[in-house]
Amino acid sequence: MAEQFDIVVAGAGHNSLITAAYLAKAGYRCLVLEGRPIVGGGVKSAHLTLEGFVHDVCSSAHNGIHGNPLLRNDELKLGDYGLEYIYPDPVFHMPFPDGSYLTQWRDLDRTCAEFAKFSKHDGSAYRRMITEYETVKPLLNAVTFSPVGFGKSLNELLLTHPQGKIWQRRLAMSAWEILKETFEDDHCRAFMMGCPYALQPVLDPASARAAYIPLHQQRESRPLPKGGSGALTVALARFIEAHQGTILTNKWVNALITENGRCVGVQCADGTSYRAEKAVVSTIHIKQLVDMAPRELWGEDFLEGVGTWEAGLTLFATNYATSEPPKYLTSGGVLSPVHSGFMISSERAMRMSYDYKSGSVNTLNPSLHVICCSIADPSRAPAGMHTVKIVAYQPYQLREGPEHWDLIKQQVSDANLKVLRHFSPNLTDDKILARTIESPLDLERMNPHNWHGSCHGGGSGPAQSGAMRPMAGYAQHRMPIAGLYQTGATTHPGGSVTGGPGRNAAVVMLKDFGTSVEEVVKR
Ligand SMILES: Cc1cc2nc3c(=O)[nH]c(=O)nc-3n(C[C@H](O)[C@H](O)[C@H](O)COP(=O)(O)OP(=O)(O)OC[C@H]3O[C@@H](n4cnc5c(N)ncnc54)[C@H](O)[C@@H]3O)c2cc1C
Repeated sequence: MAEQFDIVVAGAGHNSLITAAYLAKAGYRCLVLEGRPIVGGGVKSAHLTLEGFVHDVCSSAHNGIHGNPLLRNDELKLGDYGLEYIYPDPVFHMPFPDGSYLTQWRDLDRTCAEFAKFSKHDGSAYRRMITEYETVKPLLNAVTFSPVGFGKSLNELLLTHPQGKIWQRRLAMSAWEILKETFEDDHCRAFMMGCPYALQPVLDPASARAAYIPLHQQRESRPLPKGGSGALTVALARFIEAHQGTILTNKWVNALITENGRCVGVQCADGTSYRAEKAVVSTIHIKQLVDMAPRELWGEDFLEGVGTWEAGLTLFATNYATSEPPKYLTSGGVLSPVHSGFMISSERAMRMSYDYKSGSVNTLNPSLHVICCSIADPSRAPAGMHTVKIVAYQPYQLREGPEHWDLIKQQVSDANLKVLRHFSPNLTDDKILARTIESPLDLERMNPHNWHGSCHGGGSGPAQSGAMRPMAGYAQHRMPIAGLYQTGATTHPGGSVTGGPGRNAAVVMLKDFGTSVEEVVKR
């Protein structure tokens, strides 16, 4: 006999936990089923190397979610459940092979001066870019944090902006077109594309938003949850449990239970099943979800969309326990930032798109993102020790097939460390206590929602964005099977730690249940 709940949630990433949290606050009895031993998906922390070293398994910086009403308006008061953010300064440091460097500080004047070291024009251009962008950011935010069709479209909103027509054009351009026009010096252009790389091919049409991402962190830094990235999902889990929700781990969902064409529950790989009185919410990747119910229930258009769904760009990560942070030499002395990285030129950024397409692994001059959270948050490591993560951008599909990663991952990880040591020579072998490596294939094995290694659910080109995510006609989180809703990175506004898909799904569901998110938050 299956256990009965109002809502059954399949998968416990930060998005589905956010959906569950709003539904639990509304008074619905929620059950969350997570396949892994701990909740959080790409937003969790663990002792990956040695006892006492708290590593972020995937994400570290929570930028996007700071624009979400969940945090912006403190709708669920997650601080009461242990969530607290740290805002590192400097924000990002990038040394270049010619010995120069560019540091982004939270102080705008100081950052403009860093750009002006390379070109006076570019110092002014950076200031102008952020000033202009901040007039349009509230409109972009409104679209990001509304379900598709629940508010005005971006083009409608831009009609209210004095430079709306200019922005309409800009946002349809590629990131490279924007940066090439704005900056004249190649260090400045490379910094904007690699601080860090936005996981979007910079030459693609409509990739312009990637060019503006560094401007978000100028004001907000790259916020770190105190104690580890997982502090967000731990707080959400505590919230759900405090509102009569149940969370079960080690529960892989492998089938949807359907009756008379309606989804009424789920079945797990261990033979258990759970029924949902009102709805099932999934954050299972759409590529796997369609195999969990009879094909005729999905409809031809949905199946065609899933069949042609493309994975996005992928990551390769190595986590280290160290006895020192990375140290970079600057004119002001030694600098140890939380975030640093390398993008040797704008040409390298453009070639990365080709490397992905052709399945080539670059180990000579890879773009890297180095994160040392323990500098700003000493609770992450034993006294005087550090956690260092080197994130590289490498394809899942190698010419030899993805399984080839198991043969080459140590070599690729070593090559990345060599690049870091070129800029930060202090991290010698004796400072490294342990390491773990996650290739794009490992990331998929760890979390099937990282389908084909893509930690953003899939690419975010025009065919998979906005009203097309996951596909036309189904962007409002309601799936073709009645009673089934989808959240997570395969839905609008896509991947990263924004919580957008999670809150947007809650908005739709609460409306379908005859109430609203505003009403629930007020209670
Ligand atoms: C190395 C790395 C670094 C990153 N760094 C950042 C960063 O600094 N900032 C940022 O914003 N983003 C970052 N990201 C991306 C970010 O982590 C993801 O986009 C985000 O976590 C996606 O969240 P989600 O809620 O959509 O799903 P996920 O986090 O993928 O969660 C899905 C959950 O569902 C579970 N699940 C899947 N299928 C089933 C099933 N059949 N049954 C039961 N459970 C199931 C999974 O185990 C998982 O817990 C990074 C990703 C990686 C890999």
